[in-house]
Amino acid sequence: MVRAADAPIRELDVGVYTIPTDAPESDGTLEWNATTLVTVCCSAGNARGVGYTYADSATARLIVDKLKPLVVGRDAMDVAGCWDAMVHAIRNLGRPGVCSMAIAAVDNALWDLKGRLLDLPLVKLLGQVRSAVPVYGSGGFTSYSDGQLSEQLSGWVASGIGRVKMKVGREPQRDVVRATTARKAIRDAELFVDANGAYTRKLALALARAFADQRVTWFEEPVSSDDLQGLHLLRTRGPGGMDISAGEYGYDLPYFRRMLEAQAVDALQADATRCAGITGFMRVAGLCEAFAIPLSSHCAPSIHAHPCCAATPVRHLEWFHDHVRIERILFDGALAPAAGALQPDLSRPGLGIELRAADANRYAVAA
Ligand SMILES: [Mg+2]
Repeated sequence: MVRAADAPIRELDVGVYTIPTDAPESDGTLEWNATTLVTVCCSAGNARGVGYTYADSATARLIVDKLKPLVVGRDAMDVAGCWDAMVHAIRNLGRPGVCSMAIAAVDNALWDLKGRLLDLPLVKLLGQVRSAVPVYGSGGFTSYSDGQLSEQLSGWVASGIGRVKMKVGREPQRDVVRATTARKAIRDAELFVDANGAYTRKLALALARAFADQRVTWFEEPVSSDDLQGLHLLRTRGPGGMDISAGEYGYDLPYFRRMLEAQAVDALQADATRCAGITGFMRVAGLCEAFAIPLSSHCAPSIHAHPCCAATPVRHLEWFHDHVRIERILFDGALAPAAGALQPDLSRPGLGIELRAADANRYAVAA
């Protein structure tokens, strides 16, 4: 075993990969046909850790120029110390956005590295509170035909996943019909909808009542997640049994605190590839505990499986079609749900994933 004092971080390499989607994808407010992943590989002792974020390629340049010089040479055991140094260094560049995604990629790699140095799965290093985290299937893009929508959602249900989420908001006049189609396809499974902030307050309220007829139990970003009063309106005036959720664009702790103080959500979302890594995610979990609000992780399932089994307020993990596909292509050890839950592989140290260089290189782009 390598002792802590023997583990200075030696190298830090950055990769950028752009992977085309398998079909055009869109939600209520965005359309895309490719997704970019920025990876960080760092080494200490005999171990090599990998982490990543879903972000613009500009994130890679920021990591190389600004963060790498701070982290290389530090003790790999001191993940929090590295995190503090990175957060301090980007003060004048702005904490939300690219900077926090850059820190996230490095922080996630450092947690993986520390787990490997100690030969511990990350969930054991963080402290395990559950053996597996329930997932919900997430896709149902507004670019899908009704047939594609039904096939994807019912496929997840058939595989044992008891809750699924579809996008709404691009054509509000069609959303109730689409939700009805989804309900027929999934029978008694739980149905979630995500408007990505596409609706106005009163339209969202009216649609919440219509979605309730289709037994929708989760209404994500019915209005802009910056409209905390609007979210609060939906939370207090919307139908019983329908949780209002938001938080995926949160980059720092004050953002999440404001959302919780405004009583804007029934469930908070956070993304460890945006909120400055697993270090930031675990702090958001502490905030949720203080406010007695459940936490759901956003996207990037291979990053979230371990922290979600170590954070008490976590309710579920988003099994997002686009990222599931990418992580299967790029990583050995990417997990698959069993009985609707994701169980970290305790036989593998760290995050339990390895970048498949040959496969990844087909998608590599210049940083
Ligand atoms: Mg969302």
